Amino acid sequence: MILFCILFGLLIGSFLNVCIYRIPLNQSIVYPPSHCPNCQTPLRPIDLIPVLSYFLSGRHCRYCGEVIASRYAIVESLTAFLFVWCFSVFGWTGETVSACVFVSFMVVITFIDYDHQLILDKVLIWFALAGVSIRYYLGSPSLLDMGLAALVGGGLLLIIAVLSRGGMGGGDVKFCFALGIWLGWPDILLALFLSFVIGGLAGVILLVFRLRGRKDMIPFGPFICLGAFLTLLYGRDILTWYFGLMR
Ligand SMILES: [Zn+2]
Repeated sequence: MILFCILFGLLIGSFLNVCIYRIPLNQSIVYPPSHCPNCQTPLRPIDLIPVLSYFLSGRHCRYCGEVIASRYAIVESLTAFLFVWCFSVFGWTGETVSACVFVSFMVVITFIDYDHQLILDKVLIWFALAGVSIRYYLGSPSLLDMGLAALVGGGLLLIIAVLSRGGMGGGDVKFCFALGIWLGWPDILLALFLSFVIGGLAGVILLVFRLRGRKDMIPFGPFICLGAFLTLLYGRDILTWYFGLMR
């Protein structure tokens, strides 16, 4: 079963690469078929095996010799790793399918935000629609909790965006609105809390080691993704533990 998760994750990861590369350029994600970005030669099945082709071809395009970015193999491996992680938490249930769809969006949003400092509306619309249908089908959160969490998530980020004057973008606001649908209430608050803690720590580390200057833009989307992912997997456990402490 783990092997199936890995193979399936690699395949989906391969498709996510196409999404990450093409969606910001307004290109279709289904046509034309994959080709080398340098020489445009259409890739043959042997070139399309996730990760393996990358190493078999010696990390160069077999047609023009151009170096292939390691990014493609990284995204494929990462997706496979995350799929296995979801499966190990939820087992053979609908929750695993839901979590895999969720992390696929997280991967696309993270890498597009990292490349372009943008969270695109057309990605978010599909993310929100998938959230409403999948979570409604699985029966939690309730529609009321979805709506409440979406309004609170989007609302809080909107306030922060206004107060930070551009430090937080409109994409982050819409992203947190859509996250509310997936996570429900009160999990959305936990996701935001975790994002800010992880993002804050990462910011401090980047500054201390001078990897980024004080004025450099650090996209916040990837941290929201990480906080949301941890909440999706462990949110119930963390909230139960926390409210247990308060009693
Ligand atoms: Zn080429």
